[in-house]
Amino acid sequence: MTGSLSYDVAVIGAGPAGLAAAVSAAVGLKTTVVDAYGAGGSAPATPVIHNYPGFLDGVSGAELTRRIYEQAQRLGASFALTNPAVGFSTGRGAHTVTLADGTAISAQVLVIATGMAYRTLGVASVDKLTGSGVTYADAVAEPASLAGQEVFIVGSTATAAQAALDLAKHASNVTVVVRAGSMDASVPAELAKEVDRTRNIRVRVNTQVVEGFGEGRLEGVRLRHRVSGTIEAARTRALFVMTGADPNTEWLKGSMQRDDEGYLVTGTELWRNGQWPQDWPVERVPLLLETSVPRVFAAGDVRRGAVRRVTSAILEGMLAITLARHALREHAQRAVGAPS
Ligand SMILES: Cc1cc2nc3c(=O)[nH]c(=O)nc-3n(C[C@H](O)[C@H](O)[C@H](O)COP(=O)(O)OP(=O)(O)OC[C@H]3O[C@@H](n4cnc5c(N)ncnc54)[C@H](O)[C@@H]3O)c2cc1C
Repeated sequence: MTGSLSYDVAVIGAGPAGLAAAVSAAVGLKTTVVDAYGAGGSAPATPVIHNYPGFLDGVSGAELTRRIYEQAQRLGASFALTNPAVGFSTGRGAHTVTLADGTAISAQVLVIATGMAYRTLGVASVDKLTGSGVTYADAVAEPASLAGQEVFIVGSTATAAQAALDLAKHASNVTVVVRAGSMDASVPAELAKEVDRTRNIRVRVNTQVVEGFGEGRLEGVRLRHRVSGTIEAARTRALFVMTGADPNTEWLKGSMQRDDEGYLVTGTELWRNGQWPQDWPVERVPLLLETSVPRVFAAGDVRRGAVRRVTSAILEGMLAITLARHALREHAQRAVGAPS
């Protein structure tokens, strides 16, 4: 795919949010979807979603996104996979996204659904067991499912501290592995005290996970004390890596409002100090999932304040298109009314 191509809607990112947006848009709007890799995004890491409407016995993230991908194709959306978006610009009528191979895609509406990337430990044996006992997360979805187990958390922030407290209500023991000499200074004092007071939480400072082991599933970890150099093995079937995540928005830097961590700011969150962004060029206010650039929407994990779940990402992808249709109508009316 090279050259210059024109669409009504371009969706950047083919995870659950982007695929759902594509299905919604492809009915009536010329739609394309771009992804840096393949379709599905992070969804295959979800073994089962119990509350997705229409699936009595639950459905895996992989199966759900496979079906949505096929549906989007059947409805006429085109796909440009293994071709990351690397640049963005906007003109009077359309937005342009440049892909790594040099293709320029122009579209009236963009849906940015590029998700986020969890920071890994950089330990291959741990990463290999992702989804099989190793979970990259910023909250523990179902702590009760770990009742009676030995659980490990890597991380030193308030997120890790809160997760330790949530898990300690169910697990037999929770070990928090902290690389530095103490928990992060940003952990609120009350939270830190509660962790200290909780009998079955142990915080191991100056410590790193250097290996994960198990036959196709996590069975234990090896820990290294950074001061003494001692290595010890510990048995566990649940390791949560909570070392943070970064939204995939570097390519949008300077183009639209991002928060301090790089997440895209949308809707009413754009209202700051009693005003909308100074360069907001249209009279209406930004719509719910609209970014600081009119007709550019953000959906799923890439959006500031998103609920980081497959179902929520799908909902946001679909909602973005409902809002986009509204914005397109308004844009067309303005174009008709504009002086020639
Ligand atoms: C290990 C793990 C376990 C999880 N477990 C659960 C669970 O049990 N239940 C649950 O509901 N949720 C779970 N989640 C969260 C869930 O997967 C996400 O909330 C959901 O996938 C977000 O969807 P998304 O479409 O916003 O982003 P993603 O699924 O991350 O998709 C983003 C897509 O954008 C693409 N992309 C990134 N940058 C670019 C670029 N520059 N150009 C083009 N494409 C780009 C990526 O390749 C990716 O395909 C888990 C996530 C992880 C990582």
